[in-house]
Amino acid sequence: MTSTPTRLFDAGHLWRDGAWHADARIAVAADGQLQEPRPGTCERLGARVLPGMPNLHSHAFQRAMAGLAERRGPSDDSFWTWREAMYAFAAALDPESLQAIAAQLYVEMLKAGYTQVCEFHYLHHQSDGTPYAQREAMSLALIAAAQEAGIALTLLPVLYMTGGFDGRALAPRQRRFGHAEVSDYVRLLESLGAHQGPGLRVGIALHSLRAVPETAMRTLLATGAAQTGPIHIHIAEQLGEVQDCLNLRGARPVEWLLDHADVDARWCLVHATHLSGHEASRLARSGGVAGLCPTTEANLGDGLFPLADYLDAGGRWGIGSDSHISVSPVEELRWLEYGQRLATQHRNIAARREGDSVGQTLWQGGLAGGAAASGLPLGELAPDHRADLLVLDEDAPLLAAREAAAVMDSLLFAGNTPLVRHVMCGGRWVVRDFHHHDEARIAARYRRVVERLARG
Ligand code: ZN
Repeated sequence: MTSTPTRLFDAGHLWRDGAWHADARIAVAADGQLQEPRPGTCERLGARVLPGMPNLHSHAFQRAMAGLAERRGPSDDSFWTWREAMYAFAAALDPESLQAIAAQLYVEMLKAGYTQVCEFHYLHHQSDGTPYAQREAMSLALIAAAQEAGIALTLLPVLYMTGGFDGRALAPRQRRFGHAEVSDYVRLLESLGAHQGPGLRVGIALHSLRAVPETAMRTLLATGAAQTGPIHIHIAEQLGEVQDCLNLRGARPVEWLLDHADVDARWCLVHATHLSGHEASRLARSGGVAGLCPTTEANLGDGLFPLADYLDAGGRWGIGSDSHISVSPVEELRWLEYGQRLATQHRNIAARREGDSVGQTLWQGGLAGGAAASGLPLGELAPDHRADLLVLDEDAPLLAAREAAAVMDSLLFAGNTPLVRHVMCGGRWVVRDFHHHDEARIAARYRRVVERLARG
């Protein structure tokens, strides 16, 4: 019996530990993991090779409604009016259409430089709330989509129980999201856990404090399912929910969560947008990751995260494309910085020390926080990590005459020409010369599905 031998690669410069290393080598084992390189003939990757970016927050189905909620309504438009449009769209989806939309999205992610995605998944049941005959059918559709595209997946089935902090029942249009009992939700986690493998991790998600009563949260966090793996929650996206939490639980959401749960490095607090200075330093100390989704937060008018305070406190963070109004780690990181510049009327906010590069700081920060939130061994081109890597286009005029120190800044801040030429995910080439190997078929199926959905 023969097995695929370990392959050796070299690169002009390889991004490792937050810096470029000249003439570096990597070894990719048959299982898609990196090993310690040994002597031998190498295949050349390219001039600039860096780890793929983890995407720590996604609702895949929302990709198909990007651009459909940009028309002014009869009253003041806000997150909450957008949410109504999203509910109407979600009601029409079934496992087949979800898989088609997600596969298209995941191909777009890979081409843009994301090599992993955390899917915050709450479309569990049929639109009237009746479970599918195969209860986990919608989750399996996402797993199948990730496998088709070849992207690593952290599947986060969402516990969603109530329609507000006051414990009100779910509205009819929220019923397909819901679980009446924590035990039903834990059974879903257990059945999905059986599918885990090298490119698939199953974790836990609480939709938000407003959707999970305190007793249910305690029950879930005490189960065996909550003792390992990532735990994600939407936390403080909107001032309205901060105020509701203050009124009904007597504390701001992040403060309340830190007081009532053992938040540690396994936690990801998505949209920790509205954070007091005290909350920023407490979250930083906990080791939890702030999940930031700058283009979605801009699109929905959420507000701005206090980045400088949080970085000064040593806080960890990562990026997500969330509603997929944009699918680009470059654009997320650029807008994370630009939002701060616009608000403070200063430049180079993410770089906290003189001489630091904003681009290098942001890419490295996104890798580290995203890796923690994923629960997978990724984010570093080092032994025992996944071989998830991007090869930049060395022929691109944008990168001409750029010294190593300026490459990341050029990648993030020098326009919109795609610079990711080849992408390897789990040791497998999924994008070569800007093209995904199965993009034509996946795009054609996506087009058929959204045309059918548009006809109603
Ligand atoms: Zn979300």
